[in-house]
Amino acid sequence: MGNFSMRCLQKASDQMLASPPRAERCVLHLDMDAYFAAVEQRDLPIYRGIPLVVCHTSSDFCIHGVVATASYEARHWGIKAGMSVWEARSLCPHAHFIHANIPKYLYNTRRLVRLCESYTPKIEVFSIDEVFLDLTSQVKPGDWKQALQIARHLKEKIREELGLTASVGLGPNKLVAKMASELQKPDGLTLVRPEEFSAIFSPMPVNKLVGVGPRMLLRLRSLGIERIGDLASTPVKVLERRFGILGKILRLAAEGKDYSPVGEGRAEDLVKSFGHSLSLRGGSDDLDLLSNTLLGLTDAVTRRMRREGYLGRTVNLRLRVGYSRGYARSITLKEYTCLPRPIFENARSLLEREASLGVWEDKITTIGVSVSQLKRAEEGRQLSIWEYLDPREEKLTRVLDDLYNKYGEGVVTRASLLGSFSLSGMNPVLP
Ligand SMILES: [Mg+2]
Repeated sequence: MGNFSMRCLQKASDQMLASPPRAERCVLHLDMDAYFAAVEQRDLPIYRGIPLVVCHTSSDFCIHGVVATASYEARHWGIKAGMSVWEARSLCPHAHFIHANIPKYLYNTRRLVRLCESYTPKIEVFSIDEVFLDLTSQVKPGDWKQALQIARHLKEKIREELGLTASVGLGPNKLVAKMASELQKPDGLTLVRPEEFSAIFSPMPVNKLVGVGPRMLLRLRSLGIERIGDLASTPVKVLERRFGILGKILRLAAEGKDYSPVGEGRAEDLVKSFGHSLSLRGGSDDLDLLSNTLLGLTDAVTRRMRREGYLGRTVNLRLRVGYSRGYARSITLKEYTCLPRPIFENARSLLEREASLGVWEDKITTIGVSVSQLKRAEEGRQLSIWEYLDPREEKLTRVLDDLYNKYGEGVVTRASLLGSFSLSGMNPVLP
């Protein structure tokens, strides 16, 4: 872990531990049910009632790629998001496979966000189909009945205005609300009062805790921690010795404690990456030229990240060889950055590695660089368990990036790069 993130964590844990007990909050987590598939089934009646698989794929026939969302009918056959399309096809050959239409889903997300904003200004767009609402000022302290009424009303509005269903969780903080929304799907509404947390979640496997992914699960198991209750009863000292500051955060989470605020996230927080690419007319296999092009692209990308106040950690190199479909390689840095040097150096080493493999049978016709795994550059932001979300989420984000990248816009770049090249953008653009 880099120094920067260690510093942030130190700060976060100080804040978390120093936080005086606050008045009880009321947080709602909303998770759209089988979102992409539900939107498609709403829009096209022929998709209703059948196993429908929405894919992130670059092939016209949805042969390769990853499952973005499976309809509930398809889940019945064991198809899950994140699974390869190949595997999904073998599980259910008669399912209907279609391309994800990200701009359409983003449009629906924006409508959803606007609807949520009519309940409270304090909302956080957590992902393309998840929103947190802080209802603390909307309900009397401890009046969970009133919170349930608001939640029912919101679900009804979503059904009326968007024609979609959502699963909703209510709790005293983001962590509990998110875990509550997982309990009943689809179309669920679940309240977990603070005093109910341990009875409900203690017996559950520890990877049901927000932030505990497969890697962390293995590390916890090596300490004999199998269930959330085991984690909650492990002395903080033991966890700290093993995980450093993260140990404290994990322990608080296992007790259902989370002091992180519902950020005032807006739809633009759906920005998942910054990137630019360049089409090389006629193609090139000159490493110097490709590397220089990469430098110019990196320059433009990082300038825009700095302007918009983002840091990023994953460097993605995109290449198209001849008239093939193109592919991407990525590397994740230890520290977040918005500086051109570390991003360029990593992109170049990816390029050099690809070149040295000697697998290119043709010239490079498109080269691009993008930076993903972003976070806001603002100082003093409170970190918490949310920084440690399951890598599955990261995987989905990466796949989404590829999709966003398609809907790019033109960008400014170094004049010396323009030459005979035409520039194309790789930026995520919200419709
Ligand atoms: Mg969902």
